[in-house]
Amino acid sequence: LFITIEGGEGVGKTTNVEYIKQLLNASGTEFIHTREPGGTPLAEELRELLLSKRGEQVDEMAELLLVFAARSQHLNTKILPALSRGEWVLCDRFTDATYAYQGCGRNMSTALIEQLEQTVQQGVQPDLTLLLDVPVEIGMERARQRGELDRFESEQLAFFHRVREGYLRRAADNPQRFAVIDASQPLADVQAQIAGVILPMLAN
Ligand code: C5P
Ligand code: MG
Repeated sequence: LFITIEGGEGVGKTTNVEYIKQLLNASGTEFIHTREPGGTPLAEELRELLLSKRGEQVDEMAELLLVFAARSQHLNTKILPALSRGEWVLCDRFTDATYAYQGCGRNMSTALIEQLEQTVQQGVQPDLTLLLDVPVEIGMERARQRGELDRFESEQLAFFHRVREGYLRRAADNPQRFAVIDASQPLADVQAQIAGVILPMLAN
């Protein structure tokens, strides 16, 4: 199975991915854990280029194409081989992040993203997408406390509101594979929600 974890800044993705790994390990499920942008040496180099602060602003089309370039490499050399070995793939962000950040956040064309998605993924989609959802103000405060606002520090709250809306719209449009987790709850409650989704899948 191909499982992706999504969410905006400060939703607790890292912590909860570790929790999901524990659930999979405890059940003896063979899996790989990976992330986007990144996941292979080349794709991680592209991630560095995307996230590094430098004198030159990344052009939004260049950003979109680099995200999909990294995804093509990652999908073909790591994700698909693992799936064909029968392993589960647990991926921190995937194409829903592109719809949320580049599409809604940066107002880039959804039709173009769909075209690139079709070209790169050839119909490959996650089986399950866990969307960790928190109100933007809470998430940004958590991320700020960790000094983790990346290159977005200076950007407006409006951007993060668009990202959250983008994710919630993806969930509404793809209800068969999305589970929306209320990640504003205490960690134990968030983990109970996640276990409620993952454990039934392990039983099969
Ligand atoms: O997943 P993680 O939080 O480590 O992602 C690093 C950064 O990349 C985040 O700040 C996220 O906002 C950004 N990102 C992006 N477009 C994507 C995926 C991630 O701008 N498609
Ligand atoms: Mg993180």
